[in-house]
Amino acid sequence: MSTLTDHPRLFARPGQPAELLIQGAHGLDPRAELDEPCDILVRQGQIAELGASGSLSAPAGAETIDATGKHALPGFVDPHVHLRTPGQEYKENLDTGTAAAAAGGFVAVIAMPNTDPVIDDSAVLRSLVDGAGRQARVPVGFLASITRGLAGQELTEMAQLRDDGALGFTDDGKPVVSAGMLRKALQYQRLAGGVIALHEEDPALSGDGVMHEGGVSARLGLAGIPSISESTMVARDSAIALYEGARVHFQHLSSVESVQALAAAKEAGAQVSAEVTPHHLTLTDEDVLTLDSRFKMNPPLRTEQDRNALVRALDSGLIDCVATDHAPHARHEKEVAFEQAPMGTTGLETAFAALYTELVLPGDLELEVIIERMTSGGELYGLPVPRIALGEPANLCLVDLGAQYEVGAAGYASRSENCCFHGRTLHGKVVLTIAAGVLAYRERMLQAAGALSR
Ligand SMILES: [Zn+2]
Ligand SMILES: [Zn+2]
Repeated sequence: MSTLTDHPRLFARPGQPAELLIQGAHGLDPRAELDEPCDILVRQGQIAELGASGSLSAPAGAETIDATGKHALPGFVDPHVHLRTPGQEYKENLDTGTAAAAAGGFVAVIAMPNTDPVIDDSAVLRSLVDGAGRQARVPVGFLASITRGLAGQELTEMAQLRDDGALGFTDDGKPVVSAGMLRKALQYQRLAGGVIALHEEDPALSGDGVMHEGGVSARLGLAGIPSISESTMVARDSAIALYEGARVHFQHLSSVESVQALAAAKEAGAQVSAEVTPHHLTLTDEDVLTLDSRFKMNPPLRTEQDRNALVRALDSGLIDCVATDHAPHARHEKEVAFEQAPMGTTGLETAFAALYTELVLPGDLELEVIIERMTSGGELYGLPVPRIALGEPANLCLVDLGAQYEVGAAGYASRSENCCFHGRTLHGKVVLTIAAGVLAYRERMLQAAGALSR
């Protein structure tokens, strides 16, 4: 069985396999039934020994990290990020995007193809695979587009793109407007393999909307995007998937109507899965009253009722996983009138802390549920789920749940700073990440402590 390290459709720069002892962390991995203080010895990038806290000592050449008071969690996997390369490297690139991922505790990410040029042919995909092999700090998987140029007119060479390493397909940023085109894509998927992921939106219903259509948009006098723009497409595409016996994944669901459509589809036996973002789980259209363009994203932040339905669906497992939809934009693009600003928020560096602060601390969700849903995002694309268990490759993060910090005060690892949590005080700081057996991130404070205990 392949791991995140040697998976044929994940790509990262080679790194020195980690040799270190994590001493006294509270290990918490619901899948591995781990929930106790422990020592974790990583040798050659693998979890070589797992013992009671204080029971292991570091062999020669391995560093000891004093993790007392920290939690060791399985590393997170993000099934939906925008790394903006090729074409928009002023917003993000493979290096900065994966640095942001590592800083957020992510050990693998899946990049979207709405780049410039679009990842719709082998040459573009192969050059990204090469680039990731030189620059990516954590393994990256790539989705290719369903249609050429995201234009919705002509399918890409899906089988060829799969051979060249595509994990799956999406026209993210845009819906597949034509039902016939989606049907054809699902028929080709049978031969090509790979998951088809869908950004669900009916352009005829979204129109020129810039935020959720409801009381707040009426008060602000802004054009709205109704919830039915998303939910009618979820229902339509579930029906097509069911008819074709095919599998689809719904990206970034945002509304109670979409949750209902998803539930009906699963009930009917359709092979569907879904993701939800930290911002849709924690913010609402009330936040848009500030007219801060950091709160402008697509799908838009909706109402408290929608937010609640998403939280409950994530809790029950109806929604399968968390995805950040990390969408970097440059300051000059975002710092314009709300109506003119591009849609999207960054999210890799704040995902865990936002969910921990806004949902776990108030008692809305168990920490274990957050861990499960933040680690399972690659599973639907056939990637292994990180586990803290003997013999597994080290894919884990150390988190200081007691640490508070102001988002953005110390800058961002991402090249962009359009984070919807900017300026908020969040709890739960990732201090170290080991991805595919390689140390990918280490907080400065921990560096000092680590050096002392050496
Ligand atoms: Zn999208
Ligand atoms: Zn997206």
